Amino acid sequence: MKKTSKLAGVAMATLMAVSNSPAIAGEQASGASCDDTASSGEAVGVSGDRALGRQKLIDALKSMKNEPEKIEFHSAMCYKMAMPPATVDYTCPGCGNNTTHQYSSAAGEMVRQIASVRRSLPNLPVKIALDETALCSKCSKSERAALVFTSECGICSTSFTWKTSNSNDLDQLGWLFLDYPVTVINDGPGNGPLQNPDKVKAMVEFVSGCTFCPKCIEKLQLSYEKQP
Ligand SMILES: [Zn+2]
Ligand SMILES: [Zn+2]
Repeated sequence: MKKTSKLAGVAMATLMAVSNSPAIAGEQASGASCDDTASSGEAVGVSGDRALGRQKLIDALKSMKNEPEKIEFHSAMCYKMAMPPATVDYTCPGCGNNTTHQYSSAAGEMVRQIASVRRSLPNLPVKIALDETALCSKCSKSERAALVFTSECGICSTSFTWKTSNSNDLDQLGWLFLDYPVTVINDGPGNGPLQNPDKVKAMVEFVSGCTFCPKCIEKLQLSYEKQP
């Protein structure tokens, strides 16, 4: 009961925010008010869980866009390793080759996160494939370390590619794997502002950019350019 009223509240908020567009407002209301029927009515070949997750993600991104001040950033204690190792080894799942990377290099950072990235991708409500061959000295076609992702737009299934090639990208990648909707975000060490609309905007832009194609982002009213 509590959950339903909360959902309805979110739907109402979103409804008001997009009331200038009746078509999208209607779609929004049905998706949020009757989750079960919404998922069973999905296109063939799409699992109900995924469809539900996708709607959840869209709703979450919309409310983050419309009410960025509702997201709180909390700083968490981070323990830095006193003496991190100099290198980190990467075993290529494709060819079995071992490649040694500098621990603190971009490649090293990717290697340290690769297991959690592999584990998290299948749980996302949209299909995203990972090409990690750039981390393997044998399979790599380029000098630059990068994780290359191919997403299938959660609305129209158009494929598009994007990549993670530095430490900042890797931080953003973490946003994709949050369990949406989120209200509190652990912001690492330091005393950043509790509210950070600019950061919420960056999150919405990054996460929607990984999960939906530019056309659908606009249709979902998740793009910022159109804002007055
Ligand atoms: Zn390889
Ligand atoms: Zn699309």
